[in-house]
Amino acid sequence: MKKIQMVDLKGQYEGIKEEVNQSIQEILESSAFINGPQVHTFQANLEKYLGVKHVIPCANGTDALQIAMMGLGLKPGDEVITADFTFAATVEVIALLQLTPVLVDVCPESFNISIEAIEKAITPKTKAIVPVHLFGQAADMDAIMKLAEKHNLYVIEDNAQGIGADYTYPDGKVVKTGAIGHVAATSFFPSKNLGCYGDGGAIFTNDDALAHTLRGIVNHGMYERYHHDVVGVNSRLDSIQAAVLNAKLPNLDAYNVARRTAAQKYSAALANHANIVTPKVDGNENSHVFHQYTLRIVNADRDGLLAHLQGKGIPCAIYYPIPLHNQKAYLDPRYNEADFPVTNQLVKEVLSLPMHTELDDEQIKVITDEIKAFLG
Ligand SMILES: *Cc1c(COP(=O)(O)O)cnc(C)c1O
Repeated sequence: MKKIQMVDLKGQYEGIKEEVNQSIQEILESSAFINGPQVHTFQANLEKYLGVKHVIPCANGTDALQIAMMGLGLKPGDEVITADFTFAATVEVIALLQLTPVLVDVCPESFNISIEAIEKAITPKTKAIVPVHLFGQAADMDAIMKLAEKHNLYVIEDNAQGIGADYTYPDGKVVKTGAIGHVAATSFFPSKNLGCYGDGGAIFTNDDALAHTLRGIVNHGMYERYHHDVVGVNSRLDSIQAAVLNAKLPNLDAYNVARRTAAQKYSAALANHANIVTPKVDGNENSHVFHQYTLRIVNADRDGLLAHLQGKGIPCAIYYPIPLHNQKAYLDPRYNEADFPVTNQLVKEVLSLPMHTELDDEQIKVITDEIKAFLG
């Protein structure tokens, strides 16, 4: 059996090796390391794939979130609502820009931001909602967009884990995640569903004026060479990373199918166990691209299971172990534990299994057999 890995980037590389090696070689020969033609090609290819008018490449997903918020003109003191159960990058940039983060609870089944919790948290100071398509599952965007419209709020999608997911509206219309909100941010960190071989990110929007603003912000606030109209940042996707992404993008749907297939096999093998809740896919199966495959271990020793699996050479992880409202950097007397029952419970129950495009049946069987052997 192949060694089980949490993420197998080497195996995926084998399939695109020639193309990647050749384009990197061309970049080395041309020395166009920054702003080379690969970056423009990738931008156009991704716009087409997502069905979004503008893709603005940048240096990483955290920058993408920050630049999106700068582009919307959010001001210190503006309240921005986001999920308590996610990676910290989202709340980090809100705090960094001196906006006021408002963390809210999530849904127990989808792990995504709770619509009721958002609604309860809206005040006259609220300016934006940042839903995260957590673990690759589209958040309830129809409800979020309706709430935003009603209260005149911006929606910034954090699509770092959800690239390639299809969101289906109640009327049947299908749109890619990241092409729904006013603006979206994504990450091309190597382990993401569309990952490069270093750092990378992008911002998406259908709004022409906002796209123009964002293109200046990523480039030191310059709209004309050496004219700095606004305070910007330096955030670039380099040519080598764009070349890797150009090689991977045509395979993204197949990669996501491979992840979904592995998830279905895990869920079939772990079905109907009293201590295991397998991930629930809301609505259409294409709404989940399984950036992570995350179980809930209920009324059993989750940490013991984690140690057991690791002892057997099966990597697994807890995403995420601490609610953001309990993180030292984001403590705030406004938060009340009673407002976070779901996140507080999930951090004790979640367990993410190996998930990547190269998992095979034998590996899935070994992993699920060990889980059942431990839980009995
Ligand atoms: C990975 C990730 C980010 C940050 O992306 P980087 O490229 O690592 O800066 C932001 N939000 C979520 C939900 C992520 O998973």
